[in-house]
Amino acid sequence: MEGRTVKPRAEFGVFGGSGFYKLAKGTGSISATTRYGKPSGKVTLAAIEGRKVAFIPRHGVHHEFPPHAVPYRANVLAFKKLGVSRIIGPNAVGSLKGEVAPGDLVFCDQFVNFTSGRKDTFYDGPETTHVSTASPYCPQMRKAAAEAADALALKFHGSGTVVVIQGPRFSTKAESRFFSRQGWDVINMTQYPEVALAREQEMCYLNISLVTDYDAGLEGDPSVKPVSHGEVIKVFNRNLENLTRLIGEIVKRVPEERTCDCGSALEHARLSA
Ligand SMILES: [Zn+2]
Repeated sequence: MEGRTVKPRAEFGVFGGSGFYKLAKGTGSISATTRYGKPSGKVTLAAIEGRKVAFIPRHGVHHEFPPHAVPYRANVLAFKKLGVSRIIGPNAVGSLKGEVAPGDLVFCDQFVNFTSGRKDTFYDGPETTHVSTASPYCPQMRKAAAEAADALALKFHGSGTVVVIQGPRFSTKAESRFFSRQGWDVINMTQYPEVALAREQEMCYLNISLVTDYDAGLEGDPSVKPVSHGEVIKVFNRNLENLTRLIGEIVKRVPEERTCDCGSALEHARLSA
């Protein structure tokens, strides 16, 4: 059956491009395919201190998939077929709060979905499944991430809510003000449906949000300029090395045994057995 393997070829799946796997020991690459088509790029396999890690460039090797066109289902299923049980999803985010500054990391524990029209489930029928996303992010991995960031002396926020917008355009000032007033922390275009799909596959999911900007500005501070794509890339690249080191440290620290409930997310989710 698709989605099941006997011997895992990878334990961790990371959505990130070449910058992320340069520190890992590469063991090959695979052109994967799934019933939802091909993932957004070749799957690269590597090992970090004996733990097997697979990488998929979320936006494609040449950044040819904008956020609303990423083949999220194929990406998640390609990892599942390799036996991946834990996904790490790094991404750039805008901050909606003064105290969450560019360069900071946020290990989100909640999302709010403002996307539309994306394929966001593996269960289109006839099998009906209502997975709980009350706690969509893996608590065991978030704990390991906080310990890893501490060990590397990186500034981080151990929890936070990401609002996910459709894109590819950035927010208007009015939208950004609205999101900010809800008390949400950061804004992004790819966390949904990626995390929800991982949950439907009973995989752990850790988000690493790297703050690159203050979205449409900061209320009360006209000196803060609205986000531009150029600025996002600049700040992201400046922090890429730290992010890569962090992912390596997390992989080393996550205990092999899963003590979370992510692996049984579908237990009470099905109406028809
Ligand atoms: Zn978990």
